[in-house]
Amino acid sequence: MIIKLRQNADKAQVEHLTHWIQEYGVEIHTVTGKMDTILGLVGDTSRVPLERIQSLEIVEDVKRIQEPYKNANRKFHPDDTVVQAEEARIGGGHFGLIAGPCSVETEEQIIQVARNVKAAGATMLRGGAFKPRTSPYSFQGLRGKGVRMLLNAKEETGLPIVTEIMDLSQLPLFEEVDVIQVGARNMQNFELLKELGHLRKPILLKRGLANTLEELLMSAEYILAGGNEQVILCERGIRTFETATRNTLDLSAVPVLHQLTHLPVVVDPSHATGKAALVPSMALAATAAGADGLMIEVHNDPAHALCDGPQSLTPDAFADLSRRIFTFRETLCGLSSQPEKEEAE
Ligand code: PEP
Ligand code: MN
Repeated sequence: MIIKLRQNADKAQVEHLTHWIQEYGVEIHTVTGKMDTILGLVGDTSRVPLERIQSLEIVEDVKRIQEPYKNANRKFHPDDTVVQAEEARIGGGHFGLIAGPCSVETEEQIIQVARNVKAAGATMLRGGAFKPRTSPYSFQGLRGKGVRMLLNAKEETGLPIVTEIMDLSQLPLFEEVDVIQVGARNMQNFELLKELGHLRKPILLKRGLANTLEELLMSAEYILAGGNEQVILCERGIRTFETATRNTLDLSAVPVLHQLTHLPVVVDPSHATGKAALVPSMALAATAAGADGLMIEVHNDPAHALCDGPQSLTPDAFADLSRRIFTFRETLCGLSSQPEKEEAE
């Protein structure tokens, strides 16, 4: 962080400021020129309150030259984080294939889809029980009953489950859930994020519709700062002026996030495009971009799905895509193909 002081700043006030900043454990290097005085702060400046410094009379300008997140920052944690749910791992070379319907609709539906996606190589089962719908008249999800159906599907197939929480009050229902999803609309629900930081369970954090990657990382920071290190980031498309697709898939988010953070990054081409026909190409593109996994909506009967049918793959289309993804990883990237059956360590 660099602080530029006003010309003829009061000496006593400058001294007071430097002492106060030193309390944050950073070193201060002062450069005094003919006209200006500059303070260079070295060390972990993530807790130094930029806005309070900015508002001081003796300060002309403040610039952060270091990212405002520490726990999520690759600089402080160079090795990739590997997130684990049951036997499934994501990150550090482990590829996660998360698949399932947008919403859990019936026990038969979720069990059938779970069997189908498992046979096709999925490593985790997704399914929404609490659904954030734009219209209050749309299907809102089966709530607690839906979570229980997912748990039954897990028992049938062994696939760990991923499902979305929308509100803190729902937390008791998520005790047996393997991965808790925070949806795009809740990416900046800071109270929720803080609470999830107290858990010791993987969180899949989706990028908000209109959020920058730095904001996504600051939201992850909330969870990490609470001591929960198991965070998966998810790029799911952002709002742009383009209307041909539901959202615009920001694929460059994958390599950018890999530079900035050690957390695994998965891509959701279903919500990004909104169209089943576009999902395979974007899933493969995300794989080529180095994504640590994919989250793909699969429905046994997309035409009659209660939510997001147009973007859902049939089980057959998913099986075909899964083969292409694993072949692609093997042949082009030299990466392992099928989901790991890890040997005991
Ligand atoms: C979902 O994954 O079911 C979902 C609602 O996605 P998003 O939060 O990305 O819109
Ligand atoms: Mn959906």
